[in-house]
Amino acid sequence: GRVDYRTDQKFADHMKDKSEASSEFAKKKTLLEQRQYLPIFAVRQQLLNIIRDNSIVIVVGETGSGKTTQLTQYLHEDGYTSYGMVGCTQPRRVAAMSVAKRVSEELGSNLGEEVGYAIRFEDCTSEKTVIKYMTDGILLRESLRESDLDHYSAVIMDEAHERSLNTDVLFGLLREVVSRRSDLKLIVTSATMDSDKFAAFFGNVPIFHIPGRTFPVDILFSKTPQEDYVEAAVKQALQIHLSGMGGDILIFMPGQEDIEVTSDQIVERLEDLESAPPLTVLPIYSQLPSDLQAKIFQKAPDGVRKCIVATNIAETSLTVDGIMFVVDAGYCKLKVFNPRIGMDALQVYPISQANANQRAGRAGRTGPGQCYRLYTQSAFKNEMLTTTIPEIQRTNLANVVLLLKSLGVQDLLLFHFMDPPPEDNMLNSMYQLWILGALDNTGSLTPTGRLMVEFPLDPALSKMLIVSCDMGCSADILIIVSMLSVPAIFYRPKGREEESDQVREKFSVPESDHLTYLNVYLQWKNNNYSSIWCNEHFIHTKAMRKVRPSMCIQCIGDSLFGMGYTPDYITYHELVMTTKEYMQCVTAVDGEWLAELGPMFYSVKQAGKSRMENRRRAKEEITNMEEEMSLAEQQLRSRRED
Ligand code: ADP
Ligand code: MG
Repeated sequence: GRVDYRTDQKFADHMKDKSEASSEFAKKKTLLEQRQYLPIFAVRQQLLNIIRDNSIVIVVGETGSGKTTQLTQYLHEDGYTSYGMVGCTQPRRVAAMSVAKRVSEELGSNLGEEVGYAIRFEDCTSEKTVIKYMTDGILLRESLRESDLDHYSAVIMDEAHERSLNTDVLFGLLREVVSRRSDLKLIVTSATMDSDKFAAFFGNVPIFHIPGRTFPVDILFSKTPQEDYVEAAVKQALQIHLSGMGGDILIFMPGQEDIEVTSDQIVERLEDLESAPPLTVLPIYSQLPSDLQAKIFQKAPDGVRKCIVATNIAETSLTVDGIMFVVDAGYCKLKVFNPRIGMDALQVYPISQANANQRAGRAGRTGPGQCYRLYTQSAFKNEMLTTTIPEIQRTNLANVVLLLKSLGVQDLLLFHFMDPPPEDNMLNSMYQLWILGALDNTGSLTPTGRLMVEFPLDPALSKMLIVSCDMGCSADILIIVSMLSVPAIFYRPKGREEESDQVREKFSVPESDHLTYLNVYLQWKNNNYSSIWCNEHFIHTKAMRKVRPSMCIQCIGDSLFGMGYTPDYITYHELVMTTKEYMQCVTAVDGEWLAELGPMFYSVKQAGKSRMENRRRAKEEITNMEEEMSLAEQQLRSRRED
C-alpha cells in the first residue's frame, strides 16, 4: 500500500525554524549549560531532599529529562560517594556504555576513572570509580559475592518500566538489602506513569515526578495495513526528507537485519535522485561496534539532516536531541519461551500501545513533531496490548532459578516477585536444570549446580565447560564457549560476498560449526593475534580481541555453514525464528554419544525387548522425577497458603 500523509507548508516552515534554533543551541551551549537546561535541574534540591529523608524513592520523568545522566552526579555532589559508590543499572549494555561516556565528559574525567561502566566480561572501572553504570545482570552477579552490596552507598535502578528479567529479580533482592542496610539509598526510575505499582511493591514509598517539558506530537496512522514495513518506512523517510521540513528523523525497526536493509535502501534511493538534499543515515542496534553507536549523538554538519534507524533501544534508553519525526514500524523483537521446543526464541512481535506512545514522544522533545505509524488506528486499538508482558513472565528462568537457589532462596514460589512468573515456566526451568544435573530430585542445588552459578553463561554452556574438565578438553571448549559468546565473528561486506565466503571456506569444518570456531581462533593465535590477518579473512578483530582476554561473552555466530551432507543427529547452540526456524551453530553428533551422555532421554535402537526395556526405564525415571518435583512444589504451595 502507498503511504500517503499530508504535509502542511506552514507547519513545515515552523519546524524548520525550530530545528535551526535547536541546533544553534546545542552548538553554543557548554556541557554545564546543557546540564542546567535539563528538566531535572529545576527540581535538583527537592529531589535530593526527598532522597535524604527516604531509603527508597521512585522517580518518574519523561525520557530525556536527565534521570540517567544527572541523578548519579547529583548524589555524587551531595556527598554520597564519600562512603561508597553510586551504582546505576541499565537493562541494556549499549546504554550503560554510552551513558557512562557522556557522564565522564560532563564531569571532565576520563572514562574508567571517576565514572566507569561494567558489562558482562568488560569492566571499565578502577580504584577511583565513584559513579558506576552497569547492566542489571552485573549488579545481580555482584549480589552473589556481596549480598548486602556494601560497596554502594546508593543504587539507581534505571529504566524500571522496561521490566527486564534481571531488574525484576533485583527488585525482590534489593527490597531485602535496604531493610538490612539503613545507609543504602535505592532509587527506582521509570519513564512511564505506571509507577504506583513500584511504590506499592517497595512499601508505599514516595513517588517523585520530574515536571516534563514536551511538545505536541501529531500522530498519523497508516490508512491501510502495510504489507512490508521496511518498504513503507523507506518511502516515508524519503517523503519527509524531500518535503522541505526541517528536523531529524528516527525510524524504529525490530532488529539489525531490518535496520541494515532500511538504511541501505534509503541511501540507494537517494543516490538515484538528482539534487536531493544530503542525508546522514545512522543505524543503531546493540551489536553495532561502539564507535559507530556513538555517531548518533554527533551533530551532523550544517544543512545535513540525520536519519537514525534504531531498535527499541532509542525508545527510552538513549535520547537523541533534535528528532522531529518518528517513523514507527510497530514491531520489536522479544525473547519468548516456546514450550514446544522447551527454550527461548527471539521473535518479532507487534509492540504494545505503551511502546507506541513512548516512540511517538521521541518526536516532541525539542519542538512540536510528527509521528508516522506504519499501522492502522484499528490495529493500534484492537491488536496491540496495553503494555508489554514483563520478561519474567515470558522467558526461560533457568539462570534465575540457579542464581536464587545459590543465594539460599529455597522456596522459589515464596520469593517476593512484583509479578510472579507462571508456575509452569518455573517448573520447566527447574526441569531443564535437573537435566543438566544442576538440581537434584528434590530441587536443591547439586555441587555441579553450585559450580555452574560461577559462570555468567547460559546453564548449558556452563555445564559444557565443567564437563570438559573431566574429559580433558577444557582448553578447546573454553575457546568455543568464548567464540559463541562474542558478537558475530565473520563479516560479509557488500559487493564482496563471494570473496568473503571463499575465505571462510578455509576454516570450515564441515561437520561442526563449533569446531570451525575453534579453528578460526587457533589460526588467529598462530598468526600472533594479528589484526591484519583478521582483515584479510573477513573477521572482526574487535570481537576476536574480546574472546582472548575474557574467553567468554554474549552470543552468537551468524549463518549456518554448509555441511555438504545431512547428518542424522545434530546439536545446536541457538534456535532463531524468522519466517522459518533456524538452528544457529550446529555440530553433527553420533547418535551413540547421546545415549551415552543422556541415557534418560536417548537410547540406541535395539532389537525387541531390551529397547522396550530401555524406554520403559527412561520413562519411569522422568515420571519419578516429575512426581517428586511436583510433590515438592505442592508442599511449598500449601506452606505458602498457610
Ligand atoms: P533520561 O534518562 O531522563 O531519559 P538522559 O539523562 O538519558 O535522560 O538524557 C539527558 C540528556 O543527555 C539528553 O538531552 C541526551 O541527549 C543527553 N545525552 C545522553 N547521553 C548522551 C551521549 N552519549 N552523548 C550526547 N548526549 C547525550
Ligand atoms: Mg534514561
